[in-house]
Amino acid sequence: PPALYGNRTNSQGINMNIQTQWNELSSAYQKFLGRQWQAAPVIAGQKLTGAPHKVHCPYQLSQEVGTAQFATAEQAKQAIDGLAAFWPRWNATPIEQRAQILERLGDLLEANRAELMAMCTLEAGKTLQDGIDEVREAVDFCRYYALQARLKLGREELKGPTGERNELFHEGRGVFVCISPWNFPLAIYLGQITAALVAGNTVLAKPAEQTSLIAARALELMFEAGLPKEAIAFLPGDGATLGGVFCRDPRVVGVCFTGSTDTARIINRQLAEKEGAIAALIAETGGQNAMIVDSTALPEQVVKDAVGSAFTSAGQRCSALRVLYVQRDIADRVIELLKGAMAELKVGPTHLRENDLGPVIDAEAREGLLAHIQQLKAEGKLIAEAELPGSLNGHFVAPVAFEIGSILELKKEQFGPVLHVVRFDAADLEKVVGDINATGYGLTLGVHSRNEETAERIEALARVGNLYVNRNQVGAVVGVQPFGGCGLSGTGPKAGGPSYLLRFVNERTTSTNT
Ligand code: NAD
Repeated sequence: PPALYGNRTNSQGINMNIQTQWNELSSAYQKFLGRQWQAAPVIAGQKLTGAPHKVHCPYQLSQEVGTAQFATAEQAKQAIDGLAAFWPRWNATPIEQRAQILERLGDLLEANRAELMAMCTLEAGKTLQDGIDEVREAVDFCRYYALQARLKLGREELKGPTGERNELFHEGRGVFVCISPWNFPLAIYLGQITAALVAGNTVLAKPAEQTSLIAARALELMFEAGLPKEAIAFLPGDGATLGGVFCRDPRVVGVCFTGSTDTARIINRQLAEKEGAIAALIAETGGQNAMIVDSTALPEQVVKDAVGSAFTSAGQRCSALRVLYVQRDIADRVIELLKGAMAELKVGPTHLRENDLGPVIDAEAREGLLAHIQQLKAEGKLIAEAELPGSLNGHFVAPVAFEIGSILELKKEQFGPVLHVVRFDAADLEKVVGDINATGYGLTLGVHSRNEETAERIEALARVGNLYVNRNQVGAVVGVQPFGGCGLSGTGPKAGGPSYLLRFVNERTTSTNT
């Protein structure tokens, strides 16, 4: 897919394009500080009222960034009525026309990137670099799915007996519900919606409670790009209340969900029990991601990639590294370097470029992480903890590393800046992969080894969606590293991959006796 931001390095190793763009974007961002955004339920282009919720910046709690009005169960029913009625017209809209709307949306996202980046920072607490990456990924989804729709969804004539014409074609399924998380409030939100729309479905969009404002702004851009108002309904609000309506409605033909494994189970149960169409479920869920490092690896490279994978975005990426397995022979060296690298990490307000990490999303997330951290500290397992400046007024958690005995000691995903380190003996490599598989999750796995056979052996044994060798394990690129896991981590197909759109369509054939 076309990249939004190219990389160019000068003779001093400074990335000129990123530097220039960062300067341009960070000054544009200043314009949006103090702006108040609004989100409200929107059905067929009509803004409705709901229960108001004030939104505060996660790194500066005294800063209000807007108000989100949460939709009601009645509005959810009304939204499905409209989407079901409009579906035949949207489904009959030529694929080319639908693809062009996505491409125009991609252009509009680029044109508005300073505001969107500012919103990622002010509403979701992302660093400016994460905001830049988020907009880029959203644009890539728009362009990639437009391209895939043209390539995959047209009519195809199949070979058959003489005197007969056989054609395979695809159409939308009907009303598709898209439920997204707060950790990629623009990219995952739009990735789901654009795929469902271009495949010919009408869409009920339910963003995460914590990031309704950016979702509402993206909806305005979708309309500006030419999306018919009746093709989408926007319902910010409480997941359990609204989900209980959508996932039980007989007219809902599919749900595209990204979030926790527990929520995916609830949705799956509700869909299974509902009347009407047997609905498709696409679920991208949590992980318990490991990295395996053998004694041939380069410790400096390992620590750079482990720190990047564990602590970028304050560890709030589904792909983030949680458990670093290091072969005993080099473990002391790796741990020593890890301590040094963690002492350098700067935590603080994310609109300041010097800070590597921002806050976690809300008070509940912070409390859950602190409970886990306190327990491991009480068990005497602490390796290192970065320092938090005293002046902070947000949901901050200091990046921390512990030494534990096995990944199986962890009972659930810790969605934040917490890294666990395990030492292993070379003879136990297969057991290590077996333990990782035994968690039931299968999202990302990193391998650091200069021995190709080791990497190949791990590839054959591991049950994961995305394997990364001798690099970090976050930041999958649309169309290059299609993303998604297996087992407790999701159903597939992979987002940003060539099979994704096919899950959103009905496949049909027509056989005509000529
Ligand atoms: P979450 O499951 O709490 O919420 C996700 C979405 O589901 C939100 O929009 C929420 O309102 C909605 N929801 C909550 N209860 C619901 C219900 N009963 N019915 C319908 N919808 C409901 O998850 P989260 O805390 O927002 O996100 C973090 C989780 O997402 C982590 O586990 C992370 O690993 C996972 N994640 C996975 C991927 C991936 O691609 N595999 C990507 C990002 C995040």
